[in-house]
Amino acid sequence: MKPSLLDFTLKELQANIKPSFRAKQIYGWLYHNYAQNFDQMKNIPQVLKNELAKSYIVDPLKVVKKEISNDGTIKYLFELQDAKTIETVWLKMKDELKDEDGNVTQEAKYTICVSTQVGCKVGCAFCLTAKGGFTRDLTAAEIVAQVVALKRDNDHKHNRMINIVYMGMGEPLDNLANLSRAIEIFKEEEGLCISGKRQTVSTSGLSNKIDRLGEMDLGVHIAISLHAVDDELRTELIPMNKAHNISSIIEAVKRFPIDTRKRVMFEYLVIKDKNDDLGSAKKLVKLLTGIKAKVNLIYFNPYPDTPYERPHKSDMIAFQEYLINHGLLCTIRDSKGIDISAACGQLKEQTQNELK
Ligand code: SAH
Ligand code: SF4
Repeated sequence: MKPSLLDFTLKELQANIKPSFRAKQIYGWLYHNYAQNFDQMKNIPQVLKNELAKSYIVDPLKVVKKEISNDGTIKYLFELQDAKTIETVWLKMKDELKDEDGNVTQEAKYTICVSTQVGCKVGCAFCLTAKGGFTRDLTAAEIVAQVVALKRDNDHKHNRMINIVYMGMGEPLDNLANLSRAIEIFKEEEGLCISGKRQTVSTSGLSNKIDRLGEMDLGVHIAISLHAVDDELRTELIPMNKAHNISSIIEAVKRFPIDTRKRVMFEYLVIKDKNDDLGSAKKLVKLLTGIKAKVNLIYFNPYPDTPYERPHKSDMIAFQEYLINHGLLCTIRDSKGIDISAACGQLKEQTQNELK
């Protein structure tokens, strides 16, 4: 497999492509024009393009399926060079605002939910991605290309801001080398210029890797998939909790460099009769004491053959009220794209069944 040009920082390209202003022009084609092949790079000499094409490809992704939801969520299934597939989701977070004359006063805001692996090693009991096991890590280019592809497909100009959440398929911290490279490439001023503040790494809680990510000082946010307040239930849901238990995660979070104006997000997947009671809410408040935390409650999204059930709305709201009344910030994640197989892994699973 040839590497993609999206695998490199501008400096690295400049080291390989002479004269170096050509590298900058190519960077523009990649990140400002979202070029997918060498032919599109009009002002680059053909000899140089021929030479580069011997060693590199441009776009490592091919769209194989696209589902558009009523609420503006778009879910993409991409095929990689080795025919493996991954998902990426385009989420509309805020609608466009207009004044009485119809002029746009604020543009719509979007977040892209990115995958970091084909499959996942963590094996969470509630997660569809886990069912297929682990296939391989994504390269940095394959992570970067997801964002480029979605911006291209949605006609989203390079200088319009976008947020990235590493919440698609895979455990980002299990692919830390390629993840951190992708984060740096996203930050490139001559590229997409997406600051660390706009990038959130969601992890199932590899505590030692939370420390490593913190030491890299990339300026990114973290979100912790906590889902349970005692180790017994957490180990049932996330088997590697045995090695990285709740207290080791909390300690790692306390060491993580956090922007003083920001909070660490704790994701809490709510499952009926498992962790939706106020006793759990009480323990959660205690656990997060002393951390600038924000809790995001997520409805468990059922799929065929899962033993777990979606919680009642009333229990969800009671849980949220308890947290808020005890001083925690708490939101309920609205089930964006519920009509298009919303949770991670579900589009891939569905397509595989259709192909069978
Ligand atoms: N591996 C990382 C990031 C990707 S997981 C992590 O676990 O944090 C993506 C998100 O999907 C997580 O927040 C997870 O809790 C959620 N998720 C997985 N299965 C789900 C399901 N069946 N219903 C709702 N959310 C689910
Ligand atoms: Fe992996 Fe996250 Fe799914 Fe757990 S929830 S199996 S860590 S992708």
